[in-house]
Amino acid sequence: MKAFYAEEQKRHDPKAFLSSGAAQPNPEKPERVERLLSGAKYAGCTIERPRNHGLGPVAAVHTPEYLDFIEHIYARWQRIEGASAEVIPNIHPIARNGSYPASAVGQAGYHMADTACPISGETWQSALWSVWSAVDAAEAVMSGVPAAYALCRPPGHHAFADVAGGFCFINNSAVAAQALRKQAARVAILDVDLHHGNGTQGIFYARPDVLTVSLHADPVRFYPFFWGHADERGEGPGLGYNFNLPLPRKSADAAFLEALEVAFQRIRAFSPDALVVALGLDAFEGDPFGGLSVTTPGFSRIGEAIAKLDLPTVIVQEGGYLCDELGDNLTAFLTGFGGKMR
Ligand SMILES: [Zn+2]
Repeated sequence: MKAFYAEEQKRHDPKAFLSSGAAQPNPEKPERVERLLSGAKYAGCTIERPRNHGLGPVAAVHTPEYLDFIEHIYARWQRIEGASAEVIPNIHPIARNGSYPASAVGQAGYHMADTACPISGETWQSALWSVWSAVDAAEAVMSGVPAAYALCRPPGHHAFADVAGGFCFINNSAVAAQALRKQAARVAILDVDLHHGNGTQGIFYARPDVLTVSLHADPVRFYPFFWGHADERGEGPGLGYNFNLPLPRKSADAAFLEALEVAFQRIRAFSPDALVVALGLDAFEGDPFGGLSVTTPGFSRIGEAIAKLDLPTVIVQEGGYLCDELGDNLTAFLTGFGGKMR
């Protein structure tokens, strides 16, 4: 399988985030890339450097003021006396019905949902190359290969059209889906990350041409708390085109695969022309987030099951954090998925 990744994606190196109010080391570390790269190579992927696609495909999903913010906020932040080394917000509008702020601090609160997505001088370039990997994978699939893998890091599925959050800045899966729309009238996004894909849901919430389906740990007591519940079904013309399958904490392979079958019924009924898999590996039983209990062989079965949908498929890396099995879990998914194609 073709895989896409650029070295620049490793430069973003966030230092901190707050967990239950306590400062912790940020788990979205550059070292994730090494584990994922070796996992992809072990699965037989050839790694290609993506092209520079400019801002066109990104601006099809994100607002101009947001992209300008992500690109320039670090330099502006450095001019504030006594400011932190990384851009981290400390004030948010409780409702987004006020004025757009002019100041760096105000804009950080406006465009950043939480403290898990610190912005440094390397963030913009890493996020751009990450999304370009997703765009190249989408173009490979549009050129006729059955599937391609984008090693996207930083991840993307918590990023809304104009809000970063949860380690995410540019929504790679959403940009891939939008790129596929050039050829595919209907695109489905299947998000199997441990966490609900709230940004992806938000981007397509009012649209009937992109079906968003997410399996994740029940957000009743888990990030992202405000989204991911079963009654969120879309709005306006998009009503009925968003489908959430929250799972009880610590659900293991059998429960995950059972929920996946329910997701497949929705996807088949939608009859998409192409599929984006938002591939988080943090549903793993040994992941530091500890939300679900999927095993390494479980990821192989998940890959195998998704391949049976028999759709042109872009696989976009989302979460999955440092543990000994991170690379093995990617190998398991990709070989499970690819086994069907051989
Ligand atoms: Zn996640």
